[in-house]
Amino acid sequence: MTIDANIIALTDAGQQFPPQRFKVYTARQLGKIPQLQKLSEQTQFEMKVVSSVLPFRVNEYVIDELIDWDAVPDDPIYQLTFPQREMLEPRYYDAVANALNEEWEKSAFDALIKEIRGEMNPHPAGQLEKNIPTVNGERVNGIQHKYRETVLFFPTSGQICHSYCTFCFRWAQFVGDNELKIAAKESGQLQEYLREHKEVTDVLFTGGDPMVMKTKNLRAYLEPLLTEEFSHIKTIRIGSKALSFWPQRFVTDGDADDLLSLFQEIIASGKHVAFMAHYNHWRELETDIAKEAVKRIRQTGTVIRSQGPLLKHINDNADDWAKMWKIQVGLGIIPYYMFIERDTGARHYFEVPLVKAWEIYREAMRQVSGISRTARGPSMSSDPGKVEIQGIAEINGEKVFALRFIQGRDHDWVQRPFFAKYSETATWLNHLEPAFGEEKFFFEE
Ligand SMILES: *Cc1c(COP(=O)(O)O)cnc(C)c1O
Repeated sequence: MTIDANIIALTDAGQQFPPQRFKVYTARQLGKIPQLQKLSEQTQFEMKVVSSVLPFRVNEYVIDELIDWDAVPDDPIYQLTFPQREMLEPRYYDAVANALNEEWEKSAFDALIKEIRGEMNPHPAGQLEKNIPTVNGERVNGIQHKYRETVLFFPTSGQICHSYCTFCFRWAQFVGDNELKIAAKESGQLQEYLREHKEVTDVLFTGGDPMVMKTKNLRAYLEPLLTEEFSHIKTIRIGSKALSFWPQRFVTDGDADDLLSLFQEIIASGKHVAFMAHYNHWRELETDIAKEAVKRIRQTGTVIRSQGPLLKHINDNADDWAKMWKIQVGLGIIPYYMFIERDTGARHYFEVPLVKAWEIYREAMRQVSGISRTARGPSMSSDPGKVEIQGIAEINGEKVFALRFIQGRDHDWVQRPFFAKYSETATWLNHLEPAFGEEKFFFEE
């Protein structure tokens, strides 16, 4: 389909960047990464152990342009992409290290890895059982529908990323375990579902990272949604980390211009394109090509919003958040969410007490102008919904957390405030108890 509304020609600014070949390393090629060979044998072995359990994949752009190898191991982008020993709990680490040292045969080794993964809460917040809809009585595997207005779609060919984040809550999707995989067979099922659900206004393409897909594949999913029968779909959201891990996707890749034309066509058809950019650190925005990618996407009329979790070892201080939000706003990106690290995978390594998360959020907010204060949070994407920590208060002599639902599994919960007993150590909703002597939170009734 062609839309002949006035699609603006993109500037050729992209041409100042030489085309780059996408070179990627996976767990098997750890030993081939030149910078790693300078680290100790012990560190390299530890990476081999951890990457046997948690997914590992990193590209040359991240290695060469984003990581400061003189600052390793503290460098935030190194922590974001390279496995660290403490990401596995000691009993798991020891078991895998032992199996590697004793050169277990493959089937026994694989069984051990599978068992450990299964114990690491691979699908938190009821993702696998609770949010998967049915079409004509059949479960549709590539769709999640939890909050009334927004459907998540996982296109099959978008279920990897340009690099993997060490903290990823979708880590279980990348370890090649089909039982655990959530993927779509085809876009037909998505259309069928949306045809029957007129209450849905937003479709979020997610993964993995849908931006690993070739434009022509993405087109096959998106173009059918531009017809009249899907006029209830007002916003196409694209959840992606490509602006950080492979900005070339929007600048020098062979089909970069075609991708941006696709965004323009969607906008010309009357829909909003919301690019939900995952950012964890201002360093991801420092390269010229990262800034150029942001500029080119914005030229299409697409609005870029930013979101990402607060993580120990990567961004657990207010100054980094304030600096990141300021740089984003300067580039025209709208800060959208600050998340709490979810209760899965290497969570124990990255988690921050809720009270500290709130202090960091507040202190970062205090450093920026109102234009940069659009990020909601810190927010927990938990089973009942997205729960925001609004602050700490003292009510009738009792110290409490003030919380609210940003999103609720039950639509009636949206924006409802509620209170929990103050805790110094809680890192997730299930560690909290109702305040004021109540037995249960209202949403547990
Ligand atoms: C966050 C989230 C959404 C989108 O929520 P918004 O507040 O509209 O951005 C949709 N579905 C799920 C499962 C989510 O976690």
